[in-house]
Amino acid sequence: MHEFSTMQQIINTVLEEAKKYNAKKIYKIVLEIGELTFLGEEQLKFAFDILKEGTIAEEAELVIKKIKARIKCKCGYEGYVEYGIKDDFHLVFPIIKCPICNNEVEIVRGRECLIKKMEMEVENGKKENRGKDC
Ligand SMILES: [Zn+2]
Repeated sequence: MHEFSTMQQIINTVLEEAKKYNAKKIYKIVLEIGELTFLGEEQLKFAFDILKEGTIAEEAELVIKKIKARIKCKCGYEGYVEYGIKDDFHLVFPIIKCPICNNEVEIVRGRECLIKKMEMEVENGKKENRGKDC
């Protein structure tokens, strides 16, 4: 499961950060996940519930913010990604092509996996930490 290994990495990073500040407890973890990572929100939460057991993040709230993909083309087009459906499997997949000129495009957003914020309890109160890659 893709989500499981990703969440393991996220928790490792969070715990490492917490260690630097001698944190006793982690209250909240906010993630930003691009839609092109194909990480399922439910699966991430499920993995989190298992992996947090016995750590100082055990009671932490997990918030997942989805980032919509955005593409940019040489012709000047910039916008969201459109989705197509593969009939045989009912699979929904993003079309990474310019809807105007059909050319290859650059992906501006949508592939990020970011620990946007974490809140933890430290010696002299509360601390917030921002911006870390998963
Ligand atoms: Zn174009």
